[in-house]
Amino acid sequence: ERVNFISYFHHIIDRFEMNKPEDIVLDRQLPKNDVFVWLDKDKMTQVLDNIISNAMKYSPEGGTITFHLKKEKQKLLISVSDEGMGISHEKLDKVFDRFYRADKARSRKLGGTGLGLAIAKELVEAHEGKIWAKSKEGKGTTILFTLPLIQKKRRGVS
Ligand code: ATP
Ligand code: MG
Repeated sequence: ERVNFISYFHHIIDRFEMNKPEDIVLDRQLPKNDVFVWLDKDKMTQVLDNIISNAMKYSPEGGTITFHLKKEKQKLLISVSDEGMGISHEKLDKVFDRFYRADKARSRKLGGTGLGLAIAKELVEAHEGKIWAKSKEGKGTTILFTLPLIQKKRRGVS
């Protein structure tokens, strides 16, 4: 369905705002103007839930999680950044593989199956988007993905 991603994203973040640990800060860097994309809302909610849960899970106490939205020519760029321990350069692409977990000991302690990002990748690609990760070890991680924008109909051009 055609969805204004701004209000939809606020709604998702609101839900995390209500359940988050007190010391975690959620910082929304979202534009005010509407941006429209085609979404399977249930699936996109799974994507964002997985990415944001990871950011929470791997955040230090008092950490800030930042949400960015940027409108590019044909697509929307969405990102979620945390200030956690990060992921080493060699492991950055592997985190999207099924059952892959970057740090065995730490992951065991924090729980999970290693499926979250593999599912997110599958679902983003089903929306004709791309997903990738950037990270600086010890500084934090950013997960980014794109979605095709619905272009405004232009009048008087045929
Ligand atoms: P699940 O999501 O199935 O509960 P999981 O969180 O371990 O388990 P993924 O979400 O697929 O699995 O993430 C894969 C691995 O990537 C994680 O085990 C973790 O090592 C690493 N990772 C993912 N997100 C982050 C992050 N924000 N900061 C640091 N490491 C991360
Ligand atoms: Mg996860």
